[in-house]
Order: sequence, then structure tokens, then C-alpha cells
Amino acid sequence: MSQHSGGMGQTAPIVIAGGGIGGLACALALAQRQFPVLLLEQAHEFGEIGLGLQVAPNALHVLDALGVGDQARHQALLIERMRLCDGVTGEQILDIACDESFRQRYGNPYAVAHRADIHGALLQACRALPHIMLRNSARVAGYINTEHGVTVQLADGSQLQAAALIGADGVHSAIRRQMLDDGPPRGCGALIYRASIPAAQMPRQHQHPWPTLWVGPGAHIIYYPVRDWSMFNFGATVVTGQTEADESSDAAPAEALAHFPDWVEAPLTVMRVPAAFKRYVIRQREPVERWCDGAVTLLGDAAHAMVQYIAQGAAMALEDALCLARAAEEVRSQQTHSGANQAGSGGHALFDTAFALYQQRRLPRATRVQLSAFAMDTLLHARGPARLARNDIFAGRSQAENLARLDWLYAPQNYVTI
Ligand SMILES: Cc1cc2nc3c(=O)[nH]c(=O)nc-3n(C[C@H](O)[C@H](O)[C@H](O)COP(=O)(O)OP(=O)(O)OC[C@H]3O[C@@H](n4cnc5c(N)ncnc54)[C@H](O)[C@@H]3O)c2cc1C
Repeated sequence: MSQHSGGMGQTAPIVIAGGGIGGLACALALAQRQFPVLLLEQAHEFGEIGLGLQVAPNALHVLDALGVGDQARHQALLIERMRLCDGVTGEQILDIACDESFRQRYGNPYAVAHRADIHGALLQACRALPHIMLRNSARVAGYINTEHGVTVQLADGSQLQAAALIGADGVHSAIRRQMLDDGPPRGCGALIYRASIPAAQMPRQHQHPWPTLWVGPGAHIIYYPVRDWSMFNFGATVVTGQTEADESSDAAPAEALAHFPDWVEAPLTVMRVPAAFKRYVIRQREPVERWCDGAVTLLGDAAHAMVQYIAQGAAMALEDALCLARAAEEVRSQQTHSGANQAGSGGHALFDTAFALYQQRRLPRATRVQLSAFAMDTLLHARGPARLARNDIFAGRSQAENLARLDWLYAPQNYVTI
């Protein structure tokens, strides 16, 4: 396919590279505004690697705006609290109630879900829309900005014409490589050991309707139920200084447990359950000042991959998606009224302007979240006296203060609510 008629003076589709949560959400948001979309995914099938996903109120706001919020909430667990415990002493150091006042304050609850359920809700909604074409086994290799749009180059040597190109192709983004040439994503010096634990094997005293987060010197552990409590998502993050390793490899329990010699028994009881772990290097991107090159832009991890310490990467990809589609709608409307961008421009001027607006609106917030996530390394993984200071800081905070500190992150952004 090289042409796709979409009306509004646009003769070629917007091509999205990557069918993860960000790419699918963007396809949906654009198609709901009558922009024709062709989404290219390199994998043979659409799907999500990994297990659990925390879906913060700001992510739910976007899912609501995309019309899939109810389905996401239905399949998710709406958590009762966020609990932080010290892995050295076992004491609870923070407990934020996610009660009615939390929900009212942010306009949504905090949920935990299976990744595939959130991804699946977006995929199903995309499949139902005639403006979206989804194509698998299609790896985007590069692009050429042209007078009328973008020539998208595929790894199999073929090319297609697009009105615009959105690189939602994740942390190893090929579009970013060409646009910014800033090298491969940096390992942040930490590994994560992940596993799923069937509910029947999960110690009963650890089966709670909330994520339990244990923090200790150079490491943290989190677990929470997913899929109607049929299984628990488990992750143990360890700061090793190691920045390079296989993208994903199997690890024996003994290897993972060796990082927690001085920890209290409670979290280790859970950690001893899995017969094997998957080990990943945690990667991130340095914030950059530019995500656009004419009618080409970046979205989600391709633009601002971050460490998972505040569980916001997918939430930021969702916010990007909606913001980008609204910017495109806004610019199209302005151009229609001013008589600009009539048929023949191929939408090029429209997307140049829309992507610049999207970048202007999104870059400061995404960068703030990226930096805040990495700053959590200091708090979560504190050692020695810094650990005691961290516990003291949290102990002195009221529920009202804890909530106030989260307002900037969880409250809906204006490009979500309009
Ligand atoms: C351990 C861990 C825990 C996390 N927990 C949370 C959490 O609780 N909450 C949260 O909000 N975020 C969390 N995140 C972050 C979140 O997973 C990511 O930020 C999010 O998945 C990014 O979505 P994306 O669509 O931008 O990229 P991806 O999900 O990486 O999707 C990119 C897609 O593009 C495809 N692709 C790649 N290259 C090409 C190409 N050249 N051509 C075509 N297709 C291509 C890939 O196959 C993939 O399908 C976590 C991350 C990690 C590592």
C-alpha cells in the first residue's frame, strides 16, 4: 500500500512506526479525528512483552478520552493504597490511601493491570475503526522528508508515501537514530529481575489489593496482583552499575537473591517463589530539546524513555498520543478556516506545524517526568544515613501533603480534558 485516501485534503496516510501502547493510542486518537493512519509493527503479531503495568490516574484520563477507559478499568485492579516498606527493617515508611478523596482529587483511581489487557483494549478499538490500517512484519528503517510529505523506507527495501511519520518505535527507535543520531539508549546501571507468580503459589500474607514496594540499599522489590488475582507481577530492581548485558535473559533464583543478603525475610519469601526470572537491563534516554524533523516526530519511549521508578513511561506515551492528535486537529481546523492546506499540499505544512505544537506542549512535562523518575533512584535505593534521612522525610508527611506533591503528575492535562 502506498496511498490511502483520507479526505480533508490529505491523500496519503500518517504512518506510525510501532504498535506498542504509544503507537496504538496515537493511531486511535488520530483516526477518531478522521486522519487516515497506517500503523507498521515490526513483530509478526501485535502484543506486549512483560506482565504488570501500573496505570496512574493521568494514564486513565487518556484512556477515558480515547473511549477505552471503562474496558481498562474493568480488567484492572483499582488499588486501595500505595505502600512503601524498608527492606532492611521491615517497617512501613509510607502509606498513601487511594480512597475516594484520592479519586476525587485526581478524577480517576490508580489501577494495576496486565499489560496485554491495556494494549489489547487499544488494539481492539483500532481494529474497529475504518481509518486505521494495521500491518505486521513491517519494520521501518528510515525516512526522507519530501516536498509533499515523507517517504517511509522499510527494512525490506520497499518505500511508501506518507503525509507524516510518527516514530513510536520504542527505546531503540530507528526514527530517532536518523533524526537525532544520539547513539543507543544508555543502560542506567540497574537490572530488573521479573517473574509472574501464580496466585496459588503466592504466600497468603502477601496477597493485598495494592502494590507492595520494598526499598533498600541499591535495590527495590515490587509485587501486585493482576488478571482477577489469578497471578502476581513481581519485579526486583538492582543497581549494579552494569550498563550492558543481553537485552533479556533467563536468570536463576540464586543469582537474583544474591543481591539481597541483608534484607528482612518478608519480601524474600515472595522472591523465593519463582523458579526462574527474566533479567533485563534498564535503559533510558537523556532528555533532548527536539523530537521533530519536518513532518516526522517521535512519541513515547522513542522520544523520552525513562526508568520505571515512578511507573510513568506508558502514561507519558498515552499523553503524547492524545496531545499530538489534538494538535493536528487544531492546526487542520485553523488551516481550513484560513484556506491554507488545500488538496495538493499532502498535509505536509499541517504536520510540520502540528508536530512543532505537540513538541512545545509535551516536551517540558515529559522531561520533568523523565528527570523525576531518575531522581527517585536516590530515594528508593538510599544507603546508610541517606536511608535513615529518606525514612525520616516520609515519616513527617501527612496524607494531604503526599497528595499535594502528586498533583502535577496525576491531574489531567488541558490537552486531555478539552
Ligand atoms: C520494568 C518496567 C516496568 C514498567 N512499568 C511501567 C508502569 O508500571 N507504568 C507505566 O506507565 N510505564 C511502565 N514502564 C514503561 C513502559 O513500559 C514504556 O514506557 C511503554 O511501554 C512505552 O511504550 P511505547 O509504545 O513508546 O514503546 P514500546 O512499548 O517499546 O513499543 C514499541 C513498538 O514498536 C515496535 N518497533 C520497534 N522498532 C520498530 C521499527 N523499526 N519498525 C516498526 N516497529 C518497530 C516494537 O516491536 C514495539 O511493538 C515500565 C518499563 C519497564 C522497563
